[in-house]
Amino acid sequence: MTQTTAEKPTVTMETIVSLCKRRGIVFPGSDIYEGLAGTFDYGPVGAELKQNVKNAWWRSVVYERDDIEGLDAAILMNPRTWKASGHLDTFSDPLCDTRGPSRKRYRADHIEETECTLHRIVDVTEGEPAPVEGGEIWAPNKKKAKEFYQKYWEKYLNLEGRRVKLEQVEGSTRLGRFSPDDGGVLTEPRDFNLMLTTHLGPVLDSAAKVYLRPETAQGIFVNFSNVQSSMRRKLPFGIAQMGKSFRNEITPRNFLFRTREFEQMEIEFFCKPGHLCKPGEWTDEDWLRHWIEERMNWYTRFGIRPERLRLRQQEADELAHYAKATGDVEYLFPIGWQELEGIANRTDYDLRQHMEHSGKDLRYFDPELNDRYVPYVIEPSAGVDRSCLAFLVDAYTEEKVRDDKRVVLKLHRSLAPVKAAVFPLLKNKPELVSMARNLCRELKKDIYAVYDDTAAIGKLYRRQDEIGTPYCITVDVDSLEDQAVTVRDRDTMEQVRLGIDKVRDYILDGLREQ
Ligand code: ATP
Repeated sequence: MTQTTAEKPTVTMETIVSLCKRRGIVFPGSDIYEGLAGTFDYGPVGAELKQNVKNAWWRSVVYERDDIEGLDAAILMNPRTWKASGHLDTFSDPLCDTRGPSRKRYRADHIEETECTLHRIVDVTEGEPAPVEGGEIWAPNKKKAKEFYQKYWEKYLNLEGRRVKLEQVEGSTRLGRFSPDDGGVLTEPRDFNLMLTTHLGPVLDSAAKVYLRPETAQGIFVNFSNVQSSMRRKLPFGIAQMGKSFRNEITPRNFLFRTREFEQMEIEFFCKPGHLCKPGEWTDEDWLRHWIEERMNWYTRFGIRPERLRLRQQEADELAHYAKATGDVEYLFPIGWQELEGIANRTDYDLRQHMEHSGKDLRYFDPELNDRYVPYVIEPSAGVDRSCLAFLVDAYTEEKVRDDKRVVLKLHRSLAPVKAAVFPLLKNKPELVSMARNLCRELKKDIYAVYDDTAAIGKLYRRQDEIGTPYCITVDVDSLEDQAVTVRDRDTMEQVRLGIDKVRDYILDGLREQ
């Protein structure tokens, strides 16, 4: 593991969630219907951020390299794909239910064993204490048992208006897995497949059942030969794809970190298996090292602080059944170190599986060896939403400016949703308004710029700081005379006076990656 000594970000997830809602970055999904668990909607500002993150990735892997092709495969795939990939049989999590009233489900591996005591609910309304049937709460202490009681049990057992007490049962303390929501006993774990299903066509029978893809990777594997032959590619080369994936996560949580609908950015990089390589030729293991380094660098290139990024090599007992080795890129979120991206050596597992199930020959003909073989695959697999969350957390800054607090998103300029905002100092002066609008229109030819006159300048600056806009441009009364405007920098808050005809180049220069 790459050692770092970073401290957790001081910003909390709640602060990020509230900023996102207030400033049109991310809203809860289906908000007016009390939401839909595990879904979020990107607002006008967030849609730009997400697009910019995806563009930054695509640019770095498809445009800046010579050995990767892009792809945009369908979300719905022939269900045989999922049999071949192993998802139908093994893509599951161990799931427990609570016997308590919250009716929640938990991933068994997310619930730690805790020492709890049985608290029995006793009804004393009539003076005679009588145990309430089914009223059994497991909790580490009486305070917690009371909390569970008030939150779930009172209504569930129809005890409102009755006088009850919680009785601790002597000698009942034991180590076990209990619901952290209602103190109910958890059932034995059983496997729960995470793939979401739907039906194609008008008949709802099992023959029409299809799956919403749980990863974009399989769309790449089934197109390996199509891409290789149509683009006349020789090994090593990769195929990159971005797009939606769906998983029926048992416990979606932590905002964008774990959702049921999310986007991935995945590369399958096809290379020669190590055992066929000549001395000096890059093996699959060399390519794995290369991709780990490339992907770590991508995050820091776009602004992630290196001390909040680390690489964790998966232990042998954690590896997926298809993987020979996997490095996880982890970020120090407010919830602690968590995976941002996994980079796996998938060997020839997937192509072999698809050969077997489809009956098609997916081997590569190597002209140098004059022979065919199944390529090995290195897979860097990143989450768009987790990346957006990491970029937001990392960019979030609170500064003291005189006696005021300034919140500013110090996003990398390529990722900033709005690049420039143009304000007239006085909105009741038509000449100023028209000058500002014209300037904004000009800028829009090259970048995403916005015009705003809905508040006083100080407030307008604050709004743009909170969404990370690198430049604010103010048109004032002098502008009419000297044809110059004031350009304010987001990070330094320094202002320069520039001729209006120089603004475009000044901003484009500042936005260009160094
Ligand atoms: P986890 O262990 O966190 O469930 P995973 O190891 O199953 O993740 P992969 O299958 O390797 O994840 O998926 C690759 C990437 O896709 C992850 O690193 C993450 O960025 C993203 N991802 C996976 N599941 C989700 C999800 N439910 N919500 C948001 N992003 C996700």
